[in-house]
Amino acid sequence: MRSHWPLALIIAAAAGHAAPRGETPEGWYRQGENAARQAMLEQPVASRARNVILFLGDGMGVTTVTSARILAGQRQGGNGEEHLLEFERFPYSALIKTYTTNQQVPDSAGTMSAIMTGIKTLDGVLSVDQDIVRGDCASARGHERPTLLEQFERAGRATGIISSARITHATPAATYAHLPDRDWETDSDLPAAAAAAGCRDIARQLVEFGHGDGIEVIFGGGRSAFLPAESSDPEYPAKKGARRDGRDLIQVWRRRYPDGTFLWNGAKFAALDLDRHGRVMGLFEPSHMQFEADRERDTGSEPSLAQMTATAIRILSRDRDGFFLMVEGGRIDHALHGNNAHHALTDTAAFSDAVAAAVGLTRMEDTLIIVTADHSHVLTMAGYPTRGNPILGLVVENDAAGRPMTTASMADDGKPYTTLGFANGPAARVPRRDLRGIDTGDPGFTQDAMVALESETHGGEDVAAYARGPWAHLVRGVREQHYLYHVMRLAAQLDER
Ligand SMILES: [Zn+2]
Repeated sequence: MRSHWPLALIIAAAAGHAAPRGETPEGWYRQGENAARQAMLEQPVASRARNVILFLGDGMGVTTVTSARILAGQRQGGNGEEHLLEFERFPYSALIKTYTTNQQVPDSAGTMSAIMTGIKTLDGVLSVDQDIVRGDCASARGHERPTLLEQFERAGRATGIISSARITHATPAATYAHLPDRDWETDSDLPAAAAAAGCRDIARQLVEFGHGDGIEVIFGGGRSAFLPAESSDPEYPAKKGARRDGRDLIQVWRRRYPDGTFLWNGAKFAALDLDRHGRVMGLFEPSHMQFEADRERDTGSEPSLAQMTATAIRILSRDRDGFFLMVEGGRIDHALHGNNAHHALTDTAAFSDAVAAAVGLTRMEDTLIIVTADHSHVLTMAGYPTRGNPILGLVVENDAAGRPMTTASMADDGKPYTTLGFANGPAARVPRRDLRGIDTGDPGFTQDAMVALESETHGGEDVAAYARGPWAHLVRGVREQHYLYHVMRLAAQLDER
């Protein structure tokens, strides 16, 4: 069932099959033995973690990690499979069970609340326990749980949050806000009953944060939740703020922290004097920041996740007592919801670069770094593609002798198919598209999906956690998600519960 292709396509398909040059049986044996010998020498670090850095790849399931690793390796000219992302070099890892108290397949709010507060809770809620009703403000009163970030602040240590999504989005919000609904990002999202019952929107909770001396570093998107409807956005003057209460929360933040610096573009970010600026809030987009693949075209030249991470660590490191930093690769999830593997993998590589920046600026002896995901997605890597086959390409199999074919493999419908695909999502079509002549590596290409849904869904299988530094060796085995909070709290020797 293999059709004949025009010559140009045959060459394009064959070009991906770099022969694994230099790979020998003896080489594999030595590589394996060296890795095992190195593992034998690894000594656990059992001292106090002065600093804790949590990297959260939103929706970064294992398939996303594997395919991002291959794409990054192929972009460096290799076959890809042998490549490792930065956090895959960490000495310890575990599998993490992500279900929430009421959902088999979870969302980002319940899962991040588990990582931040040490208990599993309901889907869709922010750092409150499960004994409430989602969306019912009154029911949540008294059920707020202290977050690791709040505990670091109360212990007199520095804190920072970074997200490429809106800073009021579920993952970053779970570090500082307590609400029975993740969607109450600004006052216009807050139902009248919730406002009457005393619930404050997420943006307000951020600028009114009352623990310790306040969060030192805030970088992300989501400006409009802080600006009144009467005022124009600084980057896109045609856009207005989202608040209906007339408050300018950026001014509120400035008055509260006269030593603080607010900024919204790359030029001001690059000009930050890291020895002088003790407190910084950078909000780089009205909503989410750009996908990494689109970042160069941003009007405000927004910084990369790695640049924000490096700057945050330089500022936070000035606190001798140590710091807690949360860095979210927030848009991996969004690209996957749109069945767009290209943007998801490119953002995962940018997330890996941010981890590399943190590794370069901290010491294994005093800084615990944990890299994990809140939940997976329904991305699959399938077919029997030959070694080094372009990860964003069509499946090209080997022939009976184990050598790569010169044409793509055909499915039962007589059409070729991509290695990456989705169980559901907006790209589902009946009948399936014929992908011959289509550039499946194009940044805007969406992979085939089976079940048609407006938005591709999360996946329910375990995610991985990777760790290095003090007590990183506790990150092993198959664990519940809230276990990660207890590892971080105990490693940091936070006495308060
Ligand atoms: Zn999602």
